[in-house]
Amino acid sequence: MSTENDWNQLRKNIKSCNLCVGLNSEELGTDNAPGYGNINSKVVFIGQSLCGKPCIEAQIPFTGGSGKLLDQAFEEANVRKKDIYITNVVKCHPPGNRKSEEHEIINCTPFLKQELDWISPASIICLGKDAWGYFNKAITSPCRKEVKMAGKIITIHFVYHPSYIKRKPKKEQESYISAIAEVIRLSND
Ligand code: SF4
Repeated sequence: MSTENDWNQLRKNIKSCNLCVGLNSEELGTDNAPGYGNINSKVVFIGQSLCGKPCIEAQIPFTGGSGKLLDQAFEEANVRKKDIYITNVVKCHPPGNRKSEEHEIINCTPFLKQELDWISPASIICLGKDAWGYFNKAITSPCRKEVKMAGKIITIHFVYHPSYIKRKPKKEQESYISAIAEVIRLSND
């Protein structure tokens, strides 16, 4: 059972973390942000790494850009973004929007593990390969699996990262939004 103090400490640890050289440096524009939202949420979203300026300024993952697709899913599921929990495998923004390095993922996953242990959600939605890789390295196409965490069965969903879907035709974007909304609805039932 986690307390508000535990969460505040975790957020402080993330904000002051400099384990990865060249990350979490204001000068280099690689600031970070802890997870955002409801720590009692039944569903947790995990992205790859923090987006650039909009996410850094808001200190909220998936602000603007491809996050707008998630905003539409939240609206369709009749929830607010702050009602669910949304985080990233890598809490920092990698410079130039590059992919995260393997060592950055390794360094940062203890934070993710802590978040998941404390929240203990019913469902986790992995947005992209890095998040899915945390649970299972073998990725083929959107799918789901059940895993046991702290004695509890949790359903893990793998869907494409919204930045990939954003480049797809409108119909595909709509299916993506509806699929995510459905998982949120089912998790909250
Ligand atoms: S990516 Fe994670 S582990 Fe690396 S510096 Fe940023 S917060 Fe720390």
